[in-house]
Amino acid sequence: MLKELLYHIARILPFALLRKMANRPVIGINYHSIMGLDVDAEINKNVYRTKEELEADLQFLQKHYEVISPKEIIESKGAVKSSKQPKVFITLDDGLAIQYQHIVPILSKYNIKAIFFINPDFVDNKDLHYKRKVNYLIGMLNAEKIKDVEQQWGQIFKMVGIEPSYTTEDLYQIKYEYRTVLDQLAEVFQLSFTDLLEQQPVYLSSVQIKEMLDDGFYFGGHSMDHPNFKELNDDQQIAQSLTSIRWVVDRWNLPYALFAYPMNDQKISKNVINRVHQVADVSFGINGMMDELTPRHMPRITIEQSGKPIKQCLKYEYLRYLFLRLMNGKTYQRN
Ligand SMILES: [Zn+2]
Repeated sequence: MLKELLYHIARILPFALLRKMANRPVIGINYHSIMGLDVDAEINKNVYRTKEELEADLQFLQKHYEVISPKEIIESKGAVKSSKQPKVFITLDDGLAIQYQHIVPILSKYNIKAIFFINPDFVDNKDLHYKRKVNYLIGMLNAEKIKDVEQQWGQIFKMVGIEPSYTTEDLYQIKYEYRTVLDQLAEVFQLSFTDLLEQQPVYLSSVQIKEMLDDGFYFGGHSMDHPNFKELNDDQQIAQSLTSIRWVVDRWNLPYALFAYPMNDQKISKNVINRVHQVADVSFGINGMMDELTPRHMPRITIEQSGKPIKQCLKYEYLRYLFLRLMNGKTYQRN
């Protein structure tokens, strides 16, 4: 409701006015994929930018902002100096092969150095994210196939406290904690995630990452295997975060340490944010343009899933920032 209202109001206000009123010295834009290219049918339904739309975004940003290098973020530990022109940085989450194949060439065309946040468990296609496993199984199974293995299906689900309905709907009930159930189910149906990844690699390979690093792109951790942090306690969140940051730094011998929270960072506690900063120079969330507890935790904007032109998205984000600042005071609250 509020979102729609803000979009509506933002539509009639000029971009330059909103940008001036909000006066954000630096903003971040985060991307994942390119529309229509992902092998996961479910994920493919998400609204991403086409290659042309991504180029249009970058052209808009280069015209209205100073696109900065991640170097500036690392050296200032997030306290990026303001200049006449507001600044913007670009990041990409999830370490997808599509990013190497389709997004890097576009970034290079515009001479933009972005940060890529990766999950060590998936690099080189060693494993597949549990939600992608769910999507794959849903695509391969139906009620008839499930009926053939009814007893095993029931046993497996009951073991993790899910009352089975013997339809693919059951797969949506599987939480991160019980993700190994998905491997058991694949075996029951003689399906193999390893074969799938071999035929259709989803993630970046070490060779691709090395090439990207050599080309001046930056890398950071994004948790080991992309759990929903809401399902983890603080200690588990910290372990997931720090292990992934250290893995990326050690594996590639990086002189900096960066981290982006998987999924949503709005409920992440102060305690976790501070502990992560004992290792990471800078961390990143996905909370639009909000002021944070510390400049070392930087919010980012997701525009690709809005399906709207970048100018409209940014106008909405500026207005949301102004609105929330007016309602709640300046800083984003964390427990
Ligand atoms: Zn992610």
